Amino acid sequence: MLNINEIRSQFPILSKKKSEKQYVYFDNAATTHKPTQVINSINNFYTNYNSNIQRGVYSLANKATNKYEESRGLISKLLNTRHKEEIIFTSGVTHSINMVAFGYLNNLLLPGDEILIGEMEHHANIVPWQAIASKMKFKINVINCCKDGKIKIDDLRKKLNSSVKLLAIQHVSNITGHENNIKEICSIAHAENIKVFVDGAQAVSHKKIDVQDLDCDFYCFSGHKCYGPTGVGVLYGKKSCLLKMDPFMYGGNMINKVSFENSSWGEIPHKFEAGTANIAGVIGLGESIKYISSVGLKNIQEREALLINKMWHHLKSIDEIIVYTNTMPTSPIFSFNLKNIHSYDAGSLLDEMNICVRTGHLCAQTAINSLGVSGLIRASLSFYNTEQEVELFFSAIKKVLKFL
Ligand code: PMP
Repeated sequence: MLNINEIRSQFPILSKKKSEKQYVYFDNAATTHKPTQVINSINNFYTNYNSNIQRGVYSLANKATNKYEESRGLISKLLNTRHKEEIIFTSGVTHSINMVAFGYLNNLLLPGDEILIGEMEHHANIVPWQAIASKMKFKINVINCCKDGKIKIDDLRKKLNSSVKLLAIQHVSNITGHENNIKEICSIAHAENIKVFVDGAQAVSHKKIDVQDLDCDFYCFSGHKCYGPTGVGVLYGKKSCLLKMDPFMYGGNMINKVSFENSSWGEIPHKFEAGTANIAGVIGLGESIKYISSVGLKNIQEREALLINKMWHHLKSIDEIIVYTNTMPTSPIFSFNLKNIHSYDAGSLLDEMNICVRTGHLCAQTAINSLGVSGLIRASLSFYNTEQEVELFFSAIKKVLKFL
């Protein structure tokens, strides 16, 4: 069992107070807090070996390059990729999706071809596909979802046809905390020769990800949602796919040869990492992966399971709370409404009690529409949250219900 006080002391922000009261931070699906180990690694880079990577011949630059590449190795191991060069550093999930939309689909699809996406995706997994689709005259078709945010497998099967070339789907819903069966989805799609892109934004901090076992063609996540810095993320692509992908950005160190007549690009992954990378971010991300493995994913999952149970029990026991799913999520993400109360009003009152939750459309307007609501309150927890915070949260919810 984890020593929760010790864990919490590793996150400096968790001891910060407003009006003498600590925050209850239940917005971990938006971004998680950062442990000292991650913060220090960034400080250490700027203080002790700041230099640009993959260019210098001097020892400081070599150290920075080695640390940057060490992070690639750590992430390759985390996702169990076949090759280290299948890991590309990006600024996050949104960037990763744009890279595939504008660098891969342009080569894969012909006018009239189709991309399938789930009905309850985050905007980041809708809008880039829409942008390239309207430019290149591809079609987008939507797979219906259950209320828990998972795609309906029978609807997926119905929408398969020879024009469909790519399926883009989230691993874990940022609204319900429920999980698509990616392995099953990949085997259905691959039988029809369809590539699968997985948005893992809400999965990596909660689940063991094995891209070879899942057999997805692309997988991506953002560092800031798994205890790492903002502005850094990862795109995994099968080597066979990356070899067919064009760079999304050009310039800097992604080249092989440059002349005024024509230029050529370097090898993967470097050809996808144009310009000076977010070196400190990548090093910090590597440290967050080390941090997760030092705590132990199993320990994290055990604690989160306890919190999920407690949250679910409370949510279901208050009549004025509307929950849209019937089953308990597998990740600690819960969206709901309070009867006859606008989500913003509830969120503002909770803020007055130092409780941080997300309210509104949660960057998933199509999902909100399919649930038939104008907004939601989302409480998303991490293993560093406590049972006492869950109690505090629900006594605050009861005050909101009384007040409004
Ligand atoms: N997809 C999902 C499921 C998300 O939850 C988020 C973040 N809210 C994103 C994509 C976008 O991530 P980022 O803003 O880090 O690019």
